[in-house]
Amino acid sequence: MMKIINSIKELKACLAKNRLDKQQIGFVPTMGALHQGHISLVDRCVKENDICVVSVFVNPTQFNDKKDLDTYPRTLEADCALLEAAGCDYVFAPDAAEMYPEPDTREFDFGTISSVMEGAHRPGHFNGVAQIVSKLFDATEPDRAYFGEKDFQQVAVIRAMTEQLQMPVQIVACPIMREADGLAMSSRNVRLTANQRQKAPLIAHTLKESSKFAAEKSVKEVIDYVTGTLNADDTMRVEYFEIVDGNTLQRISDWADADYVVGCITVYCGEVRLIDNITYK
Ligand code: AMP
Repeated sequence: MMKIINSIKELKACLAKNRLDKQQIGFVPTMGALHQGHISLVDRCVKENDICVVSVFVNPTQFNDKKDLDTYPRTLEADCALLEAAGCDYVFAPDAAEMYPEPDTREFDFGTISSVMEGAHRPGHFNGVAQIVSKLFDATEPDRAYFGEKDFQQVAVIRAMTEQLQMPVQIVACPIMREADGLAMSSRNVRLTANQRQKAPLIAHTLKESSKFAAEKSVKEVIDYVTGTLNADDTMRVEYFEIVDGNTLQRISDWADADYVVGCITVYCGEVRLIDNITYK
């Protein structure tokens, strides 16, 4: 039977028993409004651990846009049904007072990994992510924690955080799950209008097209193709598209500048902010 837990104290008490029984603990942090992208992380967590903990918490400190926080979908009951079916053992669903009994004034510094792309466009976002994930790791003390590569930069930030805080947790990055038409699954997709939803797969499609000829074109030409193609659609506005070294997250100007190269994009489709990425090599 899956257990729904609201307090850190109760979560710790349950997990202490599991640890006494030498059970390995896996953890999947989420903001709820779960879809198959989240469930792919949960499936892997269930497979690789004795106990699977999933947190559902819309973390206010990582939202730099109040409207985005206010309109973020909240569907705890449906989430619990999906999680129970996936074999989750504990859902940790605290309220804000439980996670922030007093304001978290910590300021993290992850250097250039967190200052570019999402970090540059969403001031304070990764600091908020580090605040909540570090608190959740403290509450759960997982052996492994699962994150989606859809939030490519977030995985790098979390790895940097666990190193900085010397947390003995293995960070597992999982592939992007997509709708049948290629659109990266996201809790925000439900906010797209029917017309926007129909157009949104153009993001993934354009990235994929670009990877077919990337080797014969310069980095700049690929950037111009992707941003030009998407901005030509009147429902889309590219916030940024950067081709980066997948390890350092810093821009490259030549394909030979890195062994691992990823293109990271954020596009406004109407008012909905969508992110995606593609590995070029
Ligand atoms: P969120 O609820 O948006 O904070 O996401 C919780 C976790 O699920 C994060 O590690 C995300 O990267 C991951 N995730 C969200 N969407 C997808 C997707 N389409 N494919 C794989 N992982 C995802």
